[in-house]
Amino acid sequence: MTPLESLALSRGTVDRVTHRRSDKQWLDAAWADPRTRVLVVTGGRALVRFDDDEHVELVFSSPAEAPPGVRFLLGQDADGVVYFGVSADLPAPPPGTRAASLREVGVLLGDRDAGLFTHAVALANWHDTHTHCPLDGTPTIPDPGGHSTRCPADGTEHFPRTDPAVIMLVTDPDDRCLLARNAAWPGRRVSILAGFVEPGESAEQAVIREVAEETQIKVTNVRYAGSQPWPMPRSLMLGFRAEAPAGQAIGVDREEIAEAHWFSRDELLAAIEAREIVLPPPVSIARHIIESWFGEPLPSTWTEPQGPVPPGR
Ligand SMILES: [Zn+2]
Repeated sequence: MTPLESLALSRGTVDRVTHRRSDKQWLDAAWADPRTRVLVVTGGRALVRFDDDEHVELVFSSPAEAPPGVRFLLGQDADGVVYFGVSADLPAPPPGTRAASLREVGVLLGDRDAGLFTHAVALANWHDTHTHCPLDGTPTIPDPGGHSTRCPADGTEHFPRTDPAVIMLVTDPDDRCLLARNAAWPGRRVSILAGFVEPGESAEQAVIREVAEETQIKVTNVRYAGSQPWPMPRSLMLGFRAEAPAGQAIGVDREEIAEAHWFSRDELLAAIEAREIVLPPPVSIARHIIESWFGEPLPSTWTEPQGPVPPGR
């Protein structure tokens, strides 16, 4: 099994300069530098410019143009340019630009921009939903670099939250792949199985538990395949492969999983071409794991759903 490569949201190139996050003097100087670029994010969206159908780039503000909001340091590139994120209402889009989400443009952005956008959305989502101390309810104060907050009443420090989730491609002894349709998904969308890691559980244990819960299949030989941040709102998708020993029948609850089936490579391709199923979009780790099993890129996309979608699918 080769490791997953080119995951859309795992491509960041900007140095996070973590040692600068508490350096107030350095941060103030960076914010005063007109070369500094600010990415404004709200509700998981930022302004982007479409050069053509294939290439998209982020639209940055200067510090002077940036609206007021919670500010956080994203990093510094090889040319010394410093990047900040700000969680605030988006500025009016200049001509040729519009607001877009990571799902929409994650695969179209260059490596630098994909990493900056992913980092900024993850931090903005945390700031937007973790505004008060969990111990006593006092409004917290972000630290100068925006990567932690402090409660002024009891002095406790609070850090960004990431929820680990597992997503796994299960194969049977004939090397067929298990694909399922979530009951909440419309139409013909199918994907591999996924679920959140529970407290006190290893990722591998979560793989075994989730596959059994969703399909009654007991898996062995759980192997890590790669990971991708999925800040929608705060997941880290941990990709795995797992094997299902022979002689097991699929059983689905029909409440969470509507149906699940084994697909050989030929059957998968035939089902896609007959438009009987639709695979997850290229931005997802699910798509990459399926294609790594299949051996090459597959046709078929699923159009962007509106509303909440299960993690990483
Ligand atoms: Zn407190």
